[in-house]
Amino acid sequence: MNILVLNSGSSSLKYQLLNWDNQEVLAKGLVERIGIEGWMIKHKTLDKSAGNERKKSEIAGNLANHNEALGKVLELIAGIKIDAVGHRVVHGGELFTSSVLITSEVKEQLRKLIPLAPLHQPANLMGIEACEEILPGVPNVAVFDTAFHQTMKPEHYLYALPRELYEKYGIRRYGFHGTSHNYVSHRACEILGLDYAKTRMITCHIGNGGSVTAIQNGEVVDTSLGFTPLEGVIMGTRCGDIDSAILPFLAKNANMSLEDLDTMMNKKSGLLGISGVSSDHREIEEWFLAGKEPETTVMKMYTKGILKYLGAYVAYMNGVDVIVFTAGILENSSLQRKLLMENLWYLGIRLDESKNDFRGEERVISTADSKVTVIVVPTDEELMIAKETAMIVSH
Ligand code: AMP
Repeated sequence: MNILVLNSGSSSLKYQLLNWDNQEVLAKGLVERIGIEGWMIKHKTLDKSAGNERKKSEIAGNLANHNEALGKVLELIAGIKIDAVGHRVVHGGELFTSSVLITSEVKEQLRKLIPLAPLHQPANLMGIEACEEILPGVPNVAVFDTAFHQTMKPEHYLYALPRELYEKYGIRRYGFHGTSHNYVSHRACEILGLDYAKTRMITCHIGNGGSVTAIQNGEVVDTSLGFTPLEGVIMGTRCGDIDSAILPFLAKNANMSLEDLDTMMNKKSGLLGISGVSSDHREIEEWFLAGKEPETTVMKMYTKGILKYLGAYVAYMNGVDVIVFTAGILENSSLQRKLLMENLWYLGIRLDESKNDFRGEERVISTADSKVTVIVVPTDEELMIAKETAMIVSH
């Protein structure tokens, strides 16, 4: 079964075509600048004639919308039959606790959730509708960023705001990156030979966006992203936790509008905001290693932000058995992994320094006598979406 995995952004379309029978990636790529002059596709295929080397091509021109973008992608993968499409959908609200076959009723419910994700949800719907039009009869499946976290209990997902805001507007913690936390937690148990339903885990998805999740008895206990993907740890350009009273203060004293505040918190804060130079962890690391300020303080703040959640989640679960590191920064940065683990000695966690110098591999990095196993598992959201899609269309 060939499964096309689509991640539609407002002006982009990321895709991956997998042969589910052997989990081989047949083609993948990214269309950028949809609806903007000068679109581009970065496309890679598995070329068996060239000894399975991947071929790259980049094309530029003009593309008006997601239908045209998908049309181009299908031209590039012409000749390969597509049996199902799995869509990454950002928000399932409280309506979707697992992946679902897309029907007209499901689309109606997805539309109702637009206020919760006004930028991403319409783009996801555009991707779905483009597939329905261009690939009639091919089933579409929605895999949600939020669904994995729907096992949280009210004491974890409610905010201490007037209750009617939850009842009337759905203001609560939803959590995001669910597909990634789901994938890496299951994969870690598979590698370590542990029973998922009996393992206390903390998964740290730390990339440009970041979130930490506590999983116990196979269910999410808590997660650091909240009503939107802004709460929690410091991110590339997002501020993470702040005192929310800063916002009315700035509105009154700095004459900032709601839009200014939103842009400031989402696009101008985080690593970029405090360093003043870059949202890229690699650059911050270089300056930190050279002992420069403010980058040294930035790295300390960044590490402290993640530790705060690790500590809290150990307390929530009354312990932890496995910590999983994933996403761009924790898959690749031995320094960031070390900085975090140095502060977990009180839990009996020991880093095996001889195993920590690597990038992007599945590997246990704690010592044999460490009280908690710490493992790096590179995330694979596309594979997880394909898995969910295959499961749903095969039933
Ligand atoms: P992601 O959003 O998961 O793609 O992660 C992107 C982040 O990973 C960026 O901040 C990159 O700087 C960071 N990153 C990628 N490679 C490295 C590396 N070798 N060392 C430190 N950070 C890295």
